[in-house]
Amino acid sequence: MADRKIIESTLARTNLTDHDLANVAYSPTAVMPDVRVVKIGGQSVMDRGRAALFPILDELVAARKEGIQVVVLVGGGTRARHIYSIASELEMPVGVMATLGKYIPMQNARMVQMLLAKHGGLYILPDDFEKLPLYLQLGCLPVMSGMPPFGYWEKREEGSRIPPHRTDAGVFLSAEFLGARRAIFIKDEDGLYTDDPKKNPAATHIPRISVADLKARDLPDLVVERVVLDYLPRARACKELQIVNGTTPGTVLAALRGQDVGTIIHA
Ligand code: ADP
Ligand code: MG
Repeated sequence: MADRKIIESTLARTNLTDHDLANVAYSPTAVMPDVRVVKIGGQSVMDRGRAALFPILDELVAARKEGIQVVVLVGGGTRARHIYSIASELEMPVGVMATLGKYIPMQNARMVQMLLAKHGGLYILPDDFEKLPLYLQLGCLPVMSGMPPFGYWEKREEGSRIPPHRTDAGVFLSAEFLGARRAIFIKDEDGLYTDDPKKNPAATHIPRISVADLKARDLPDLVVERVVLDYLPRARACKELQIVNGTTPGTVLAALRGQDVGTIIHA
């Protein structure tokens, strides 16, 4: 009987768990480095309704007309929190929570797409990333849910039953995959503060901070999901998070033009 044929290549004779593999250089291609990956917050924007959302959409459309390529991701908000509460109380596994948690951002993304339809708003799924070059070339405004598609395969974080990868994580991971330098988060505060400004009026604004400094400060509460801060130092493309206030006119457009408004958290 003939021997098994092995085609020689770097990894052919490894089981892919070898420590030496860690030394393989990783400098991935930035697939679409010019794309602005931007999140419309769930609770911070969508739940506030038209008063908050419409001016933001106007600025996204204005940016698109300037030739800026934008991919919009949308968060869940209060309705997502409701399902997490109910599912928690029913002792659902984290994978079930993550699966349930994808529906609300999807609903929000579908509404945003309809509102942007006359300006080229197009609802896309994660698997549609490969069609982005065409959509953007045609002048479309792709809109998708911010929830990363881990679903039942979501991993649990020690000390929590809430899926750690929610829509902020999905936005960061999308930006990193696409090769965008920044992930932009449109929320309802001017960025990061020393504490939640809604609860602590003495909290002060932090315009720019590194992840290391931010972690060292051990702030009581954060404006982005914590898991994103764990990934940022390992990022190869998306080395900055920008958090901007969508309730201040002109801020979203400024951020899309690349200006340092709001807070920049850097790797
Ligand atoms: P989204 O709906 O966009 O996911 P979240 O409501 O989850 O936004 O997070 C944004 C909120 O985080 C802000 O409205 C603010 O009240 C709160 N927050 C908590 N800690 C901070 C902090 N240190 N700096 C700024 N905002 C904070
Ligand atoms: Mg949130």
